[in-house]
Amino acid sequence: MTRRDRVLSGMQASGKLHLGNFIGALQNWVRLQEKYDCFYFIADWHALTTGYANPSALKESTEDILINFLAAGLDPDKCTIFLQSKILQHAELHLLLSMITPLGWLERVPTYKEQQQELKDRDLSTYGFLGYPLLQTADIIIYRAKYVPVGVDQVPHLEISREIARRFNNLYKEVFPEPEALLTEFPKVPGIDGRKMSKSYGNAIYLSDSPKVAEQKILTMMTDPARKRRTDKGSPELSPVFQLHRIFSTKEEQNEVAEGCRTAGIGCIECKKILIKNIFRVLEPIWQKRSELIANPKLVIEVAEKGTDKAKKVAEETMRVVRDAMGLR
Ligand code: SF4
Repeated sequence: MTRRDRVLSGMQASGKLHLGNFIGALQNWVRLQEKYDCFYFIADWHALTTGYANPSALKESTEDILINFLAAGLDPDKCTIFLQSKILQHAELHLLLSMITPLGWLERVPTYKEQQQELKDRDLSTYGFLGYPLLQTADIIIYRAKYVPVGVDQVPHLEISREIARRFNNLYKEVFPEPEALLTEFPKVPGIDGRKMSKSYGNAIYLSDSPKVAEQKILTMMTDPARKRRTDKGSPELSPVFQLHRIFSTKEEQNEVAEGCRTAGIGCIECKKILIKNIFRVLEPIWQKRSELIANPKLVIEVAEKGTDKAKKVAEETMRVVRDAMGLR
């Protein structure tokens, strides 16, 4: 049997997973495991690059992500699930790649300056934060992954990994394939305040929210501000609730809601109740699986251990070649 092309992707352990993570990544990962040799990991070291001063939530976040990986449909018989910090070879490769990576390459990664601006409350003038793309490169190329699933806006981020792999291959020997983007377009998922759903904005619907909490969040979600009273006509295009309808509701429901909104034929509560029904259709199997997994933590740990063992073998195989190529015995 020929080996299926390998796909690598990770989720940073910097908080609980939300609906935006599910629609923007996890759902796609579940599809990809049918076709590719997928390696999915929880990036706990990455979480420390920006969250080093406050690591108390790391353990809880790691557990939540692992449970959600499985609850969302990742199947350990079809893909490899592991924890980054359990595979020390990532750190070793990160160190070795740091010997050959020009500083300027890291400094000009667009998100370096952007994130420093965005997270002004943290001191990100650290070596670890600057080296983030290098650690990310090590994560990818240590498995000699062919593809990394990304959206169009993230393609430039992959470029530095390709450059570093190329530089290594030119300096020593052809070890690493240059990872390619596996392009996927995802709808933007708005949070309850209309901005992009994000844990840092406090506007997210979490996969771990109870049905009651999730319902309450949707019921209090921002609408078109023009609809102050039930009789006011609105514009669905200006309502984040409608953006969620676009993702979760059928075409007929979308048309009905849009028409009702424009003519004041439907109230916002009624409109949100349709949305709740449709979002719950997606979340209910996840909630069900989550409670089964929470009741059986041994099974969850076994999955992580099995995946980590498998990933470690692959990483070590690559490192043997890398050490040899760099004159280390
Ligand atoms: S009817 Fe629906 S789409 Fe229109 S403003 Fe209210 S919640 Fe938003």
